[in-house]
Amino acid sequence: MRLPEWVKASYPSSSVLELKKLLRKGGLHTVCEEARCPNMGRCFSRPSAAFMIMGAVCTRNCGFCSVESGRSAAGGAAGLGPLSDDEPARLAAAARAMALKYVVITSVTRDDIEDGGASHFANCVRALKSELPAVKVEVLTPDFGGSRKALESVLAAGPDVFNHNVETVPRLYPVVRPQADYERSLKILERASAGGGIPVKSGFMLGLGERPGEVMAVMEDLRASGCVMLTIGQYLRPSSKSLPVFEYIRPERFDELRIAALAMGFKSVASGPLVRSSMNAEEYYRHV
Ligand code: SF4
Repeated sequence: MRLPEWVKASYPSSSVLELKKLLRKGGLHTVCEEARCPNMGRCFSRPSAAFMIMGAVCTRNCGFCSVESGRSAAGGAAGLGPLSDDEPARLAAAARAMALKYVVITSVTRDDIEDGGASHFANCVRALKSELPAVKVEVLTPDFGGSRKALESVLAAGPDVFNHNVETVPRLYPVVRPQADYERSLKILERASAGGGIPVKSGFMLGLGERPGEVMAVMEDLRASGCVMLTIGQYLRPSSKSLPVFEYIRPERFDELRIAALAMGFKSVASGPLVRSSMNAEEYYRHV
């Protein structure tokens, strides 16, 4: 399908190259680059970036994602390196070099690691907070296999926002997120909002074949699980290996959903074709 005007993004690129150099020097990944995010030019020019920790190879293979999957056909895991102990320090150094006031940390999923990498997440939060005491940190985590202990170790590190995306409606999980579980993701959000004392955030994409009634049901489930922040964006195909776009949703529909979400009690709602879960994260945090 032809790309409609409203999903075409064009931003200055000079800052992108500058920031990429800094990130490579620090041996760091961003989900911005891995996911080929259309907003990279704008975010990198601020600068803001969503750092991706625990390597660039994932133990899962979600249909919408272009991150390299270490999941072999037989379900085994390949190409998954050990976690690097100095990654938290490198991340904090890059955040200082970029003079960031708000940092989003996300990651691939590492089902091959006992706690799913939760303690490594916690170390990254602590390293940032000690290097930049005034910095706000949002963690956008995998589901850690539903482990309550893993979740608690991340929350104990003191992030300012807990984020975990449900990505789509439960009916589409077998194709869009085959190794994930919708109820498990809701449980993670529920526990984070119950125990963390911090705003809880989630998000999903449109354009994968979901029906309007299913979208409203997901928003109600997220509210019921304690989410106060929500992001809704258009799915864009990052690579020919990824799922095709089923539909380009018109901007008016995103506006309708924002109004419906605010009426449901969400305090901060980013809803638009180019919205991504980490985009303008600082601004939306300030809304809460
Ligand atoms: S778990 Fe995350 S990084 Fe891994 S394939 Fe799915 S979306 Fe991509």
